[in-house]
Amino acid sequence: MNRDDKFIVVAFGGNAFQTKGEKGTPVDYWRNAYRSAEFLIKIIKEGYKIAITHGNGPQVGIIAEWMMAGLKTKGLPPMTLDIAGAMSQGWLGYLLQQALYNKLLEHNLLGNKVKGVVTIVTQVLVNKDDPAFRNPTKYIGPWYDEEEAKRIAKEFGWIMKPDPRGGWRRVVPSPDPVGPVEIDAIKKLVDEGFIVIASGGGGIPVVKEDNRLKGVEAVIDKDLAGERLATALGAETFLILTDVEKVYLYYGTPKQKPVDIMTASEAEKYYKEGHFKPGSMGPKVLAGIRFVRNGGKQAIIGHLFKAYEALKGLSGTRIIPD
Ligand code: ADP
Ligand code: MG
Repeated sequence: MNRDDKFIVVAFGGNAFQTKGEKGTPVDYWRNAYRSAEFLIKIIKEGYKIAITHGNGPQVGIIAEWMMAGLKTKGLPPMTLDIAGAMSQGWLGYLLQQALYNKLLEHNLLGNKVKGVVTIVTQVLVNKDDPAFRNPTKYIGPWYDEEEAKRIAKEFGWIMKPDPRGGWRRVVPSPDPVGPVEIDAIKKLVDEGFIVIASGGGGIPVVKEDNRLKGVEAVIDKDLAGERLATALGAETFLILTDVEKVYLYYGTPKQKPVDIMTASEAEKYYKEGHFKPGSMGPKVLAGIRFVRNGGKQAIIGHLFKAYEALKGLSGTRIIPD
């Protein structure tokens, strides 16, 4: 696909579906999904074409809690993490798919240009020799005391470690994404005028072995996977929406300073200096650097509530090519 000057890949963070302090009832999820859809409508009305990706950290945590509760009370075997990832793509994809569809109807935007909204269960390829497999770092699911953690580790062959925040938890690898397996189908749908929701939760991690795909017990960072999607689709802009308005230097210190714009090399320098926390802002900035180095025009990191303003250059942090 040629670089399309009005095509944006939008990455939603946790706050697109769950707001801090909420219980996370279905009513809460729908309210948040409609709110997120409303921000997209503003962008679509300006004539932009979009594809969407999203995180799933909290939901995979919840699915893990359900599975462990089911195991305890009914002896139901827990599913693997790739299956849990697929569940979360269906869960969140469905919410957004329906909310956005209804908003498009409400605003009279369904037609030749925007034909519909569709979620793709997306597998994302990772290298089976990715160093992350030798060094799992990502904490997921319920917290346990040491004794139970060690018992569970034995029973399921999981790696359990003490969480710096207290208690013991399962840790899994977070390999670097290579790209979405279903990219050709996604491209076709985008070209046809469908709004596609893909690579949800960073995608279902799969490796290629003996000329076959196989799910692995890992999680992929959604910002890094979003970059692979945006690059493969030839998007002009990669818009990462989160819960802060800008990227900051010296974040959380008295010297904290917002960044309006930085080149890939400047961003890389700040990244190496340790300004962006691993697992939160770190992967967003890294994804932005990769996106513009792979031919994208700009990556924007901004607040969900200011999605439109960020796109217009009135909010957020832009990463641009050198
Ligand atoms: P999301 O669900 O949107 O991916 P994350 O929690 O992963 O959200 O990332 C956003 C968070 O990154 C912010 O809430 C903020 O606390 C944190 N953060 C870490 N370093 C920085 C930084 N340098 N500038 C801004 N935010 C930062
Ligand atoms: Mg995140």
